[in-house]
Amino acid sequence: MSVQLHDKTFDLFLTSNEIQTRISEVCEYLNRDYADKRPVFIAILNGSFMFAADVMRRFNGACEIQFVRLASYVGTSSTGEVQTILGLSADLKGRHVVILEDIIDSGETMVSFLPLLAQKEVASCQICSFLVKPDALKHPIDVAYRCFDIPNEFVVGYGLDYDGLGRNLPDVYHLH
Ligand code: 5GP
Ligand code: MG
Repeated sequence: MSVQLHDKTFDLFLTSNEIQTRISEVCEYLNRDYADKRPVFIAILNGSFMFAADVMRRFNGACEIQFVRLASYVGTSSTGEVQTILGLSADLKGRHVVILEDIIDSGETMVSFLPLLAQKEVASCQICSFLVKPDALKHPIDVAYRCFDIPNEFVVGYGLDYDGLGRNLPDVYHLH
């Protein structure tokens, strides 16, 4: 199965079933590790909105969520520059934070974002990423919770876009 977005064709890579099954497994670890910690999930917009919704509804304990918007991507290659667009709102001092990311590619985004969190004097901070591209990592980022490690290729679907399109797809596709 394939989809056409703008000028490019993408082939099916991860099915909705595979995605949902794997998220359930990862959320068992989150439930175990954060049961009594009232974590604050920080979802990095736009790409992580679907993942964040699926993680939130599987977390059984008390929890909160905040949304942050950063930018580092134009088209299909990283610009390497990260700007905060929507900042952190509530007081995070002493809180256990779990960052929810759609995908960790070069790691630039997390390298710029983590110091902002450290300034807030959080009690702990872990990263939970839907996808990780280990071969693209330029920084030693510790991704404690990860659903899928994938090859270094451009993917869309399940919240991830190609110039605005494809976020609504329940499956993940890679370049043909
Ligand atoms: P990094 O800063 O780690 O290089 O990139 C992180 C951000 O780049 C992700 O949150 C995501 O928005 C975007 N990104 C990285 N790889 C891909 C990809 O394969 N497809 C899409 N659609 N976005 C990506
Ligand atoms: Mg993102």
